[in-house]
Amino acid sequence: MKAFNADLHCHSTFSDGLLPPAELIRRAHANGVSLLALTDHDETGGLPQARAEAEILGLRFVNGVEISVSWLDQSVHIVGLGFDAADPALLAGLAQVRGGRDARAQRMGDALAKIGIKGVYEGALAYAGNPALVSRAHIARHLVKIGIARDVASVFDHYLVRGKPGFVEHEWASLEEALGWIHGAGGIAVIAHPGRTRVDKAGMEALFARFKDLGGEAIEVVSSTQCGAAALEFARVARRYDFLASRASDFHGPGESSVDLGRAEVLPPDLTPVWSRLV
Ligand code: AMP
Ligand code: MN
Ligand code: MN
Ligand code: MN
Repeated sequence: MKAFNADLHCHSTFSDGLLPPAELIRRAHANGVSLLALTDHDETGGLPQARAEAEILGLRFVNGVEISVSWLDQSVHIVGLGFDAADPALLAGLAQVRGGRDARAQRMGDALAKIGIKGVYEGALAYAGNPALVSRAHIARHLVKIGIARDVASVFDHYLVRGKPGFVEHEWASLEEALGWIHGAGGIAVIAHPGRTRVDKAGMEALFARFKDLGGEAIEVVSSTQCGAAALEFARVARRYDFLASRASDFHGPGESSVDLGRAEVLPPDLTPVWSRLV
């Protein structure tokens, strides 16, 4: 029997992915994905199109979102899965988080203008399928296009992370708010790619403990940037806190993402997969 291939984290043009929802679903289906969640940043607008295409192809689909959260003055990402996408408090919360993005992108553009790179905000907007959802990924794509750096990853390293000229501070949702919105809409909360969070060890332990206290259910053990030893590290966290385990490509698009839909490593077999609660 073929293994159950769940991929519970990816992006469409409704946030900073390169493919529209229906195309993403067709690619997941072609890649042999059994269960997919679309998890756009702070945005659920792509879910109906994704679900409609999934129904046509007979691919199991679950509602998802990736909420930007501030934790110890860093950003952490919390994925919500299996919620009611019509829940008014969730929709209002996400609208509030999105609301800060445009001004942030303009401030990033202003910051880069100070080192002589002009027109970045307008350039990034041209890459954004959803003007309410400009992310650093759009800015990075624009900077690659105008020849500032070789690829998106090096733009981040040299321009877009704290301490670099294009970085600006920003206040996202609180952890309490994000979990309240997800749980209020009947969903399950997942700590996204903990290995990528720029918080020290004590801060991460505090995050896991607080997330558990708030009723957080799951953690991404395997993600595109979290394989091998890193996945084993977060498998231990899952066992210690009795978290369900998730598997995620965090796919943004062909040519940009190193791991395609449904192609992340498999979970260690002793963990309880989060999809045991979703199918
Ligand atoms: P934002 O939500 O605007 O802070 O942008 C975060 C997004 O930028 C992530 O979801 C990724 O798509 C992208 N990103 C963050 N760090 C990196 C990196 N080091 N290399 C490539 N893309 C990155
Ligand atoms: Mn992204
Ligand atoms: Mn993320
Ligand atoms: Mn993501």
